[in-house]
Amino acid sequence: VKYVFDFSEGNKDLKDLLGGKGANLAEMTNLGLPVPPGFTITTEACRTYMTTSALPPELRVQVTLAVRKLEDDLGRLLGDAHDPLLVSVRSGAKFSMPGMMETVLNVGLNDSSVHGLAAFANNERFAWDSYRRLIQMFGKTVLDIDGELFSDALDAKKSQLGVTGDTELTADALRELVDDYKEIVRRESGRDFPQHPREQLDMAIEAVFNSWNTDRARLYRRRERISDDLGTAVNVVAMVFGNLGDDSGTGVCFTRDPATGMTGDYGDYLQNAQGEDVVAGIRNTLSLADFEKIDPSAYADLRAAMRRLEGHYRDLCDIEFTVERGKLWMLQTRVGKRTAAAAFRIAKQLVDEHIITLDEALERVTGEQLSKLMFPQFDSSAARVLLATGMAASPGAAVGAAVFSSSTAQEWAAQGKDVILVRRETNPDDLGGMIASVGVLTSRGGKTSHAAVVARGMGTTCVVGAEALQVDVNARRFVVGDTVVVEGDVIAIDGTSGEIFLGEVPVVSSPVVRYLEDGLDATIAGLGDDEATIELVEAVDAILGHADTARRLGVYANVDTPADAHRARSLGGEGIGLCRTEHMFLGDRRVLIERLILAKDDATQEEALAALLPLQREDFIGLLTEMDGLPVTIRLIDPPLHEFLPDFTELSVKVALAKERGETGPEVDRDVELLAAVDRHREANPMLGLRGVRLGIVIPGLFALQMRAIAQAHAARIKAGGDPHAEIMIPLAASVMELHLVKDEATRILADVSAEEGVDLEIPVGAMIELPRAALTADRMADVAEFFSFGTNDLTQTTWGFSRDDVEGAFFHEYTEHGVFSVSPFESIDVQGVGRLVRIAAQEGRASRPDLRLGVCGEHGGDPQSIHFFNEVGLDYVSCSPFRIPIARLEAGRAAV
Ligand code: ADP
Ligand code: MG
Ligand code: MG
Repeated sequence: VKYVFDFSEGNKDLKDLLGGKGANLAEMTNLGLPVPPGFTITTEACRTYMTTSALPPELRVQVTLAVRKLEDDLGRLLGDAHDPLLVSVRSGAKFSMPGMMETVLNVGLNDSSVHGLAAFANNERFAWDSYRRLIQMFGKTVLDIDGELFSDALDAKKSQLGVTGDTELTADALRELVDDYKEIVRRESGRDFPQHPREQLDMAIEAVFNSWNTDRARLYRRRERISDDLGTAVNVVAMVFGNLGDDSGTGVCFTRDPATGMTGDYGDYLQNAQGEDVVAGIRNTLSLADFEKIDPSAYADLRAAMRRLEGHYRDLCDIEFTVERGKLWMLQTRVGKRTAAAAFRIAKQLVDEHIITLDEALERVTGEQLSKLMFPQFDSSAARVLLATGMAASPGAAVGAAVFSSSTAQEWAAQGKDVILVRRETNPDDLGGMIASVGVLTSRGGKTSHAAVVARGMGTTCVVGAEALQVDVNARRFVVGDTVVVEGDVIAIDGTSGEIFLGEVPVVSSPVVRYLEDGLDATIAGLGDDEATIELVEAVDAILGHADTARRLGVYANVDTPADAHRARSLGGEGIGLCRTEHMFLGDRRVLIERLILAKDDATQEEALAALLPLQREDFIGLLTEMDGLPVTIRLIDPPLHEFLPDFTELSVKVALAKERGETGPEVDRDVELLAAVDRHREANPMLGLRGVRLGIVIPGLFALQMRAIAQAHAARIKAGGDPHAEIMIPLAASVMELHLVKDEATRILADVSAEEGVDLEIPVGAMIELPRAALTADRMADVAEFFSFGTNDLTQTTWGFSRDDVEGAFFHEYTEHGVFSVSPFESIDVQGVGRLVRIAAQEGRASRPDLRLGVCGEHGGDPQSIHFFNEVGLDYVSCSPFRIPIARLEAGRAAV
């Protein structure tokens, strides 16, 4: 196996094998840029090392040959007593993990080569300083010795000599310090500091391999979703010295500003310094303009290299360089990380400069970045008092008075106050309060708890699981540390970082949202001479516009109200993919549903239904009006009926109390009756109980009512000169027989209403595919269903066999820790399992009905990774909450290019 690649043998496309740093060092070498010679040990060697816990024997041989070549090329020997070759041993994984892994500089120094270095540099002090740095770095990272011991010894030496700065230590002092360091090594590791250069090298290589598996590296990878089995490469690079005097130095630079994306020179330079001195902030750095004044010729070389690299990578590059006695050396480059705003600006600039195409520009930005640009943000320059940090559940920046009940939230909001609803956790009864609030804060629950899911759907800022908060809703206050926040106190929550602040924090609104809602011209007109923001908005416009042209997938919205439908449309929604009708039965209408469920005879039942009909019709007319000309997919009522009834325990207590007190009367009788009904509807597993289409079949009047209301609304819109496109969607069907039953009824009702109203009604009837059986019998389901919409939330629950509310808080954390999945299957579609069902159903459904329309309406419809999958399996559209629409448009475009 070839484990070692000379820099001249690699290239930038070999990141898997050579790591990012190694692949790019090779690329720069091939471009003819001045890179110190060296070689890369592959990630494959690291993977072998991790399984066998020893360096592979062939690796030792290949390293020998590579070192010899290096020595021959440079005419120096590793660790030689005269004019020694020294090397750095640098980690470098496929994905950069800043500050996570180890690098050892100056490998090859020992008791004799230190004299050779002093002679070469004509500088005793420099040589001894380099040697003590090697022992310190090597001791810490290779021999695992507590770094404090070395810094303590350094401090002791300084105070002994009465000096304060490291640079004031003389060559003699540093020589003594080397002895102290060697003593520390002997005492702490039980062995002498290795004098043999090759032994140093091998040990350093092994240490870099081991640094892949430190706790912090693992933690970082988990957060960034990087796999643990990639391993790191190791780069062995001939040392060049930026610390030889004032004609030397080291620096970092970017070809464009990584924060704003604006073009120009961005970088820092430090004279007479080595490696990490720049980042460590030991001394104040100089600008590139200063560097130009100090060394115009090295600066000119750097500018040429920057231009060359940006042209070659066709992207923003960041660069590490060193100047050794006036000669420029390139030590690292990579396509630079950047903020969301910079990503859009840079992509657009590169298009304008004809360096990349618009298709490529699409690949340079992500939906996640766009979503970051859409949230209002706290002004980070303002003074703030941090109370605690919870989980960031729904982004945004909200400031308002803390309230502890849904009713207070609604009351205060009605008076025009901004409120933040604070609860231990929320439940469906809090919906009104959540809608009224600018933000929602809970002390319990995870990213997909009720509060989080609902808030995300509404685009309301939300922080959940802030466990440091002791919320007492009865006392209307929460306690955190020794701060008490009572009802009415102003707090601020950041749904992007999860931070909770006390008091007012100024908020800046997002110009990108203004652009999305009002269009380009209106937004620019309001921006005055804010060039940077104008450039950003123009960049979003150009790239999102291109995504719209490129994409194949339609983007619909999950909305239930005309106001949300309006917003969805202004954000680019092309229809409603899911209207949840159950939300229309809350509030005042709840009693009507209660009456329907409790009806003992047909007459009472029909009375209740008759009362609901006009209300439902108006609901649908509102939606069809807002979405005129576009499809409106209305799902018939889905959740278990008990959700519309009072809580069993509470009601039992009430009835028991009344009985004990001997109370009587019609109200008590009604409660007793209600309790019996609630008891009848209790289920052990409501999620798998009487709900969805089952409800429609068991209580027939209910679906009939909704279908009649849809038909009447549709007819009314036609008569009013509109262009309605209502569609009826049947939830939770598992068998084609269920679809038959409902569709037959639909056909009857549509014919009736058509005759009554004197208009033709073309209202397709389709099925939600959200049970494995439905997916697996898709060919038959498609005999009846005119369209499929994948309800991937329920499909995930039923495929994995876990109920989301029960498992997420309970053990998803452990499951991600143990790598059962790297991301919750509720956030991003489980391609192997749930995705396979979607694929099968799409293929077999289309086989039996070629024009079958396919969409998805689960939360996955707004998730970038899932969107790419849905594009690949050939769905026609995704449907998501209004605020995810621009993100879905962008990602659907990215999936198509
Ligand atoms: P990181 O990935 O943390 O940036 P690096 O491997 O890039 O670590 O090295 C740390 C520092 O040492 C960087 O500033 C780098 O430029 C410098 N450095 C690495 N190798 C050499 C070398 N051969 N000669 C001079 N400086 C080097
Ligand atoms: Mg580096
Ligand atoms: Mg469902």
